Amino acid sequence: MTTNPTVQAAADAALWLAVHLGWHVLPLNPGTKHPLPGCRDCRADIRDHDAADCPCLARADGALCHGVWAATTDPDVIGRWARRWRTSVWAVHLGASGLLAVDLDAHGGTPPAQPLNGLPWPLGDPPPVDGIDTYATLAGLSGGAVDTTTFATDTPSGGLHLVYAAEPGRWKSSRGYVRDGDDTVRTGLGWQIDIKAHGGYVVLPGSTSTTGTYRRASTTVTPTPLRAWLADALVRTGHDRTATPAPSATAPPPVVVVDGHGPARYAASALRSACAELAAMAPDTGRNRKLFRSTSRLAGMVAAGWIDRPSVETALAQAAQHAGLPAREIRYALASGFARPRPAPDIRSAA
Ligand SMILES: [Zn+2]
Ligand SMILES: [Zn+2]
Repeated sequence: MTTNPTVQAAADAALWLAVHLGWHVLPLNPGTKHPLPGCRDCRADIRDHDAADCPCLARADGALCHGVWAATTDPDVIGRWARRWRTSVWAVHLGASGLLAVDLDAHGGTPPAQPLNGLPWPLGDPPPVDGIDTYATLAGLSGGAVDTTTFATDTPSGGLHLVYAAEPGRWKSSRGYVRDGDDTVRTGLGWQIDIKAHGGYVVLPGSTSTTGTYRRASTTVTPTPLRAWLADALVRTGHDRTATPAPSATAPPPVVVVDGHGPARYAASALRSACAELAAMAPDTGRNRKLFRSTSRLAGMVAAGWIDRPSVETALAQAAQHAGLPAREIRYALASGFARPRPAPDIRSAA
């Protein structure tokens, strides 16, 4: 038992989630918000085994070895940790709990020219001010929304965690940031958007760190299943650990280079001629229809694995912009085209 109400509230919240929702929870260092240290033999720099083969974790008696992999649903262990560590910050290991969190930051700073990984930022839209803004635009482009009906937590720094039920082990964690000297996000989903899943954790509501208290932002405590549009965006940006091979997580080149062989060459060639035709079109000559039909045709080749979706979306959007089509119409035509892919042609005889 502890007499510190902040510490008690955090431990109570973690215990409740572990018992009622089956979440794997663990105590964190309240200053660093990192997992507490395990035994010397299991430290990352000297250990000779993984968490799956760890003798300490196999005892299931509350060893804190291997960071998030020590997380548990066992109320006895949670009680022991609460008495031993008296910390006011607890977390959930998302991957082990069958969860995925979209962690939207509000770090401030200057947004890059292209805040979304692999999708052009809508022409005429103001740049995002934080991760919530970036995510709202991604959701809008993808036919989704920033969810108000799943488990959500407000962070002390103005960020937001959205927690979804997701296939355990399927999704990779990522960080969306800009590398030095670049002005385009080429990792994760977008600027100041972190994905936390396999091996990832988020601080639980009820916790108080040195920056303040994490509070539940949703009326519900039940995570909804991962939205289809979000799952699609995660697959497109290389977060699917079961994909073989992982799709490229880097932005495609702006110019469509036709190389490779067979279907890949055919698809690149089809994309290049579609872009050339579209870019040359004048107003009131069916640009919108042309964009939709080209997208639909290329979407079939994406589905067949001949070409990657970011390349198709970026190149067609740029060509349509060149032709003067409004950003909103471009977004709509691309989304409609990908929603209705035409089967890829049979090119065996032509290859
Ligand atoms: Zn150990
Ligand atoms: Zn170990």
